[in-house]
Amino acid sequence: MPPKTFAEKQEAWDKRFLDMARLVAAWSKDPSTQVGAVVVDPDYRVRGMGYNGFPAGIKDDERLHDRPAKHKLVVHAETNAIATACRHGASFLGCTLYVTAPPCSSCAGVIIQAGIIRVVWCGALRADWAESEALARSMFAEAGVEIEAGDGRHDGVWGALEAPGEGRRA
Ligand SMILES: [Zn+2]
Repeated sequence: MPPKTFAEKQEAWDKRFLDMARLVAAWSKDPSTQVGAVVVDPDYRVRGMGYNGFPAGIKDDERLHDRPAKHKLVVHAETNAIATACRHGASFLGCTLYVTAPPCSSCAGVIIQAGIIRVVWCGALRADWAESEALARSMFAEAGVEIEAGDGRHDGVWGALEAPGEGRRA
């Protein structure tokens, strides 16, 4: 067999880390939505991981089942992966973030500011988050963050998003 090309190696690593993000997603206690994120450096070492949930010290009580209360308290997986690793002095400059749902615009701002240069996600675009997700994609494009969508089925169908609103749907 010929040696793998860089693109083939990259795709293999992307699939591994999306699998890891799916595993981390399953740790979320959110009864309706589980999202996982993993941040990886250019040597493919994990620098941070997180899932959607309340901040440390905030009890996972009935507020988890009250959507308006939950949305005010919850930290998204991407922001959680970055913020939690900051406790131990992690740096994300030049890193790739893997996440099991398209990022929202708030997380996009955090991702950009952390110095992450590539975002790979799997999972479907969500109707109730469409505006925020479209804004996130345009923010990434404007800031020069590479974005890629995987369809989550591991069948080799991957595609870069060319413009806001033209994303490949899972
Ligand atoms: Zn978010």
